[in-house]
Amino acid sequence: PLSCGIVGLPNVGKSTLFNAITQAGAESANYPFCTIDPNVGVVEVPDERLDKLTELVTPNKTVPTAFEFIDIAGIVKGASKGEGLGNKFLAHIREVDAIVHVVRCFQDENITHVSGKVDPIGDIQTINLELVLADLDSVEKRIDRSRKNLKGGDKKYVQEIEVLERIKEALYADKPARSLELSEDERLLVRDLHLLTMKPVLYAANVSEAEAANADGNPFVQLVREFAAEEGAEVVPISAKVEAEISELEGEDKEMFLEELGLAESGLNRLIRAAYKLLGLYTYFTAGVQEVRAWTIRKGMKAPQAAGVIHTDFERGFIRAEVVSYDDLVAAGSMNAAKEKGQLRLEGKEYVVKDGDVMHFRFNV
Ligand code: GDP
Repeated sequence: PLSCGIVGLPNVGKSTLFNAITQAGAESANYPFCTIDPNVGVVEVPDERLDKLTELVTPNKTVPTAFEFIDIAGIVKGASKGEGLGNKFLAHIREVDAIVHVVRCFQDENITHVSGKVDPIGDIQTINLELVLADLDSVEKRIDRSRKNLKGGDKKYVQEIEVLERIKEALYADKPARSLELSEDERLLVRDLHLLTMKPVLYAANVSEAEAANADGNPFVQLVREFAAEEGAEVVPISAKVEAEISELEGEDKEMFLEELGLAESGLNRLIRAAYKLLGLYTYFTAGVQEVRAWTIRKGMKAPQAAGVIHTDFERGFIRAEVVSYDDLVAAGSMNAAKEKGQLRLEGKEYVVKDGDVMHFRFNV
């Protein structure tokens, strides 16, 4: 499954946020493919369309789609040189698809800050520098290797070196690799380097309980927003402490607590949705009387691959898919009505699945 790594300096609220994530926890029986590991939290993706489909179909069961958050604690200054538990953590970051970077925007005299004062931009730069240094190391090693290969006369290394040099230049200027505009081909050339600064990032600005409903009144949050805008990154203000409390409540109690705080929904839900978007993911639905369910795919996946997300047999034996878009289905009011209006399409192996498609697969066993 796709995953998002949670990083940040010590004492910024990572564990508090991660605990809220695991506490809010997904029904694990629904997600047998997910990793069982104390550092992995499975989250369900809130989606109003799923509620609407449930109303329409009244199935026995509704299952949201899910992805994983991984707690990557322990990054400190000097990590790229192997200080702290340095390299081990960088290796963990290498494996995730996107990064949620928690930064401290709350003031609390009782909680020590590693650098002595609340300074979210300084914190971001400290961590980013470690990631940049680790990437520089990877890039320089690869340039050396490709230069040697180039002497053998293989032209494909010319373009590779050209891209690597551009990335190196950006890194030297303290800019993440993702800030460069690379073509799809150029991206492919460097993909196997798994550069840390190529991964999409979202900053979670951790504010105090009192600021939960009005986080943008916190001047540090504004600084983080300005910084992120320059990088083209997203910001989600959140109060980790409040989320930890919310995650212990359910149903009406939860609604009441949110209302008291003046929140329309939990910050965790906002974070999950923002992370999902950051990962570039699409959702399609299956809607049977037994089960209405949301499934996650990457943009651009074709029907057989999308079917494979449910079960590998579905991909192997794929014949065709019956497809209706979510909007058409809801407007028609029922599957039969959509069919009568000619909105139920038969699609084959080359069909590229769209976000919000409601699919029914035909396959050979
Ligand atoms: P980590 O080292 O980044 O995992 O940080 P923790 O989640 O362990 O948090 C460090 C300390 O800060 C803990 O005592 C938390 O209770 C506290 N903390 C986290 N978020 C907030 C917050 O929003 N407000 C206040 N006052 N304390 C917080």
